[in-house]
Amino acid sequence: MNSPVEAIKSEKRLLLIEYLKKNHRRYKTLFSDNEDSIFVLDIEGHVVQSNPAFQHLTGYSQVEADELRLQFLFPIDHINKVFHHFSNAVLGRFPNFDTKIITKIGQILDLNITFIPICEDDQIVGVSAIGKDITDLKRKKEEIRKIEEMQRVLTDNILDVIVSTNLQGEIVYVSPSCEYILGYDPDEVMKENLLSFVHPDDVEKAYQSRKQVLDTQESGRDCYRVQKKNGEYLWVESLCKPIIAHDTLHVLEIVSVIRDVTDRIKVEEEAKRREETYHDLVEHSPDAVIIAKDSEILFINETGARLFGAKNKQDILHRSLSEIIHPNFLEMAKERGEMVAKGTITEFIEYQLLRLDGTTFVAEVKGIPTFYENTFARHIIIRDVTERKKTHELLVNSEKLNVAGQLAAGIAHEVRNPLTAIKGFLQLMETEDDGNKSYFDIIQSEMDRIELILSELLVIAKPHELKFEAVDLITLLENVKTLIETQAVINGIQIETIFNYHNFTINCDKNQLKQVFINILKNAVEAMPKGGFITMEVKQYGCNMVKIFFKDTGYGMPPEILKRVGEPFFTTKEDGTGLGIMISKQIVENHGGTINIWSDQQGTMIEVLLPIASVRLH
Ligand code: ADP
Ligand code: MG
Repeated sequence: MNSPVEAIKSEKRLLLIEYLKKNHRRYKTLFSDNEDSIFVLDIEGHVVQSNPAFQHLTGYSQVEADELRLQFLFPIDHINKVFHHFSNAVLGRFPNFDTKIITKIGQILDLNITFIPICEDDQIVGVSAIGKDITDLKRKKEEIRKIEEMQRVLTDNILDVIVSTNLQGEIVYVSPSCEYILGYDPDEVMKENLLSFVHPDDVEKAYQSRKQVLDTQESGRDCYRVQKKNGEYLWVESLCKPIIAHDTLHVLEIVSVIRDVTDRIKVEEEAKRREETYHDLVEHSPDAVIIAKDSEILFINETGARLFGAKNKQDILHRSLSEIIHPNFLEMAKERGEMVAKGTITEFIEYQLLRLDGTTFVAEVKGIPTFYENTFARHIIIRDVTERKKTHELLVNSEKLNVAGQLAAGIAHEVRNPLTAIKGFLQLMETEDDGNKSYFDIIQSEMDRIELILSELLVIAKPHELKFEAVDLITLLENVKTLIETQAVINGIQIETIFNYHNFTINCDKNQLKQVFINILKNAVEAMPKGGFITMEVKQYGCNMVKIFFKDTGYGMPPEILKRVGEPFFTTKEDGTGLGIMISKQIVENHGGTINIWSDQQGTMIEVLLPIASVRLH
């Protein structure tokens, strides 16, 4: 038998059933068409009725659902909460809460439930429960929360500063890393214009790249300096991304990820500086430098361009090495090139090379393996040896002179003695036999010539015979001038002197030096058969040298003759000895000086450089 209380309860259940029947029409549409799960409970928590959405959600059939009790629908740890809300509903309240429900197959779903009390004749006879499946919603919320959390962890911990700016450039968000990187608390920079932190020299660039992001609505990258709170500047790289509104497709904000790249820039600058230094070194190297890949010329320095006769570097760049190497040397060049390609440094070897105009020259070439613009290449050093060869030739020449000089002196002595004897007997014969006077004259003049040559030769260096004394150079030059003047006047030549000194003492063998000046002046006179001018000038050179210039306006010498002047017996004159300059050079060198000669069609200039003992101006 039912207890009286139970009787009341089941009476209420009946009332509820009665009520539902009565309102069947209204409830039917509400139940069947509703997406939400609806189930009606009597005040004891027994399901009395449920809609298809509920059955679909829980997996129970309609009949099975009608057997359900509230406590079977919820996991144990939710039952208390559910009953708490249910009793509130029985008391006439409308509780709404999130909970979990167990389906027939044991699946647990998230549900938001609203309990609505059902009143009949001022009595609560049951409770309608409206459940919304919030599993998806909860999952999405959870995902969003996770993403937010991840973002927070990221923005809090990464070393980049993330800044969001509005269209005016004002900072609307900045990540906490701002404090670490720039020294500003994020609140300090809020609403400030991002560009106000940029270095004045970089503002325009930063502004333009921001504008480009706004105009193109595409991400952009830029590099500029920003000022830290302590005044220091940092080089930063900024990646800007526009945030575009879905509906209007307008840019709402720009998010920039700003990274401190100061160290990288410093390394880059250092590398650049080093490269420039290296470049300068190579560019100003006295040797020609070519960098070639395979056989293509990728780089040539200024010296190289000049050496190969190129007007500018472009004339020679991208040509093949074979164009600048003499065909006879190509095979060797190829072999040595292969050695370099294998990593060997090849030593300097003489090559015959070709200038762009096809002329050849000799140079020493060395190859070094290198890297150029990230690829393997050959660093080729080309050393012009023309000058060195010239110096070598000069050395050989002066050595020859020495030997010639010594020989000449010896020969002169040996020949002079028999010559004196012959001359004596010739004079005797002349007085005794005057049959063929013209023959004697010829013999006499030829003998005189031999004697002249011999006496000239004898002037050559015999150090022990040199008599050094303090001589006034100006007086010496004036004397020489007087000596040569008669001959000059006859030839229509004027001699001018520029002596700005009163007294110019040099230590020398007076006669030998006189010989030098006479030789030079005689040559000048001989070079001006139709007259002209000779200028003699004295100039101090440094504090202990003097330069004596002899300029003439004669026919001068072409380079090939100039090159040979001073060689023993080199003359262009019918009755010349070709010894004058050679002997003069020898004498001047014995006095610690040098002779230099310049000449062209306008005339000749000879410079005699001598050490001085003392000087006094006018
Ligand atoms: P020489 O006078 O006997 O020929 P030098 O040694 O004095 O011998 O000179 C050698 C050559 O140098 C001369 O034959 C001449 O061709 C050239 N020479 C020297 N001085 C001059 C000059 N002042 N002007 C033109 N040619 C010169
Ligand atoms: Mg001469």
